[in-house]
Amino acid sequence: MELSGLPASSLAKRAGMAHSTLVKFLNDPDYPHIPSVRTLAKIEAAAILVAAERSGLHSMPLRPQDSNVHLPVDAIDPVEQAAFAGLIARLSHHEREAVLTLIQSLVRGRKEESSLPLPLELTMTDPTWTPRTLLAQALGHIDEASRAVVPPIHIATTFIRDPDNQYRSGNIYGRPDNATIREAEAIIARLENAEAAMVLGSGMSAATAVFLALKPGDHILASSVMYWALRHWLLNDAATWGLNVDIVDTSDLQAVRAAIRPGETKLVWLETPSNPLWSITDIRAVADIAHQAGARVAVDSTSATPILTRPLDLGADIVMHSATKYLNGHSDVIAGALATAKADEFWARIKRVRATLGQILGPFEAFLLIRGMRTLDLRVRAACATAMELATRLSNHAAIHQVLYPGLPTHPGHELAKRQMQGGFGGMLSIRIRAGEEAAIKAAAAVKLWKRATSLGGVESLVEHRASIEGAGSPCPPDLLRLSTGIEDVGDLYADLDQALKA
Ligand code: PLP
Repeated sequence: MELSGLPASSLAKRAGMAHSTLVKFLNDPDYPHIPSVRTLAKIEAAAILVAAERSGLHSMPLRPQDSNVHLPVDAIDPVEQAAFAGLIARLSHHEREAVLTLIQSLVRGRKEESSLPLPLELTMTDPTWTPRTLLAQALGHIDEASRAVVPPIHIATTFIRDPDNQYRSGNIYGRPDNATIREAEAIIARLENAEAAMVLGSGMSAATAVFLALKPGDHILASSVMYWALRHWLLNDAATWGLNVDIVDTSDLQAVRAAIRPGETKLVWLETPSNPLWSITDIRAVADIAHQAGARVAVDSTSATPILTRPLDLGADIVMHSATKYLNGHSDVIAGALATAKADEFWARIKRVRATLGQILGPFEAFLLIRGMRTLDLRVRAACATAMELATRLSNHAAIHQVLYPGLPTHPGHELAKRQMQGGFGGMLSIRIRAGEEAAIKAAAAVKLWKRATSLGGVESLVEHRASIEGAGSPCPPDLLRLSTGIEDVGDLYADLDQALKA
């Protein structure tokens, strides 16, 4: 039997048969003659490859790396063995590489009956390993095809359908999902102790995906001190979608109790520490109040990061990040993330919002996010130490009349922050300039080392006159400068602020 002599249709048929054989073996773990499912998958993949090639459909990505590709043929009966051995011997090096790529998806696809993408197989399963360790190795996932310690970027928008019309790889089209974002999601889910995570095209798309998964008529309670653009959307646009929004000081539990409408409030949205005053909300206490009223709690934990606070462990249902900030950390990606305590019906609705509105994160951005997260723990700890030292030193500066930082005992949320944030109080602080708004804008203009820019959570320190961006209705005082501490030397940062405040 000479496979290469057969017409393409017969080869494709044989490839189809190899599929069903493999499924049979996988469904019967006691089958005695199969030393390795992997072996058969390789052979099967070889058959598919050749069939596709002969049909002029050869469009598999080929990898340039050399490798010791072993394609043992001792897993099937001697007649078949000879046939497949002949086939495999004729594969070029590049074709063998392509075979390996196929094997990965074939074996994965068969582990689950549905065609839904599988969660990543994680190699770092020791529950005692800390976030710092898990992050340094991006969960330790090794690319099976190449044995690379850095996963490849999957840029394809569409994927080959199996000869029998199935999509066993789990990959169909790039808008609902892609393999690279699944890598990022696995890391975020692990960090947040979540059942599942989702990455989206921006922090705003992550937040609005949650609101758009609600139903018309649902009532939302949100922090009065929060990221201004989201507050603006809630107050000005959410009504268009039939959502009723009330703003409340969520750091005041009495106010939350008074504003919540049992049975009607479906979501309480918190931000803690919150922009730009860094007020602290008691996540556990609000979760208790909300759950009693039948509402979910979502927390924008962008400035706390999963290194300092894990809202799901405190009773929240959903946690959100502008991954543009600390998670990525290098001011070169716009991204958002959500993580959920339960992958329930509401989560499925959010996922549908992402898929249908096309809010997915691109694979390249997901790759950068994964790379950025490898150093998240180091960066956050460095930023926390710097922010604490700057807050302390600036508290005694003649040009400043108030420093807002939850790490200072004078901050109204300090005691709560000590309980709720582990390992630091974050890298964000605000200073209020004694001489008022004009002096604040002048000081921001005089910095030489700090970058005068919006955003936060990057390796470079940023200073911003916040009221200029927040506009009317903002709780931000006009004399306030917001500081995002990066990873530069704290002495250099202080000296630059000092000269700018004296300029
Ligand atoms: N949440 C917070 C706390 C933010 O600071 C930001 C952005 O500044 C966002 C959400 C929105 O994120 P993005 O700019 O990634 O859409």
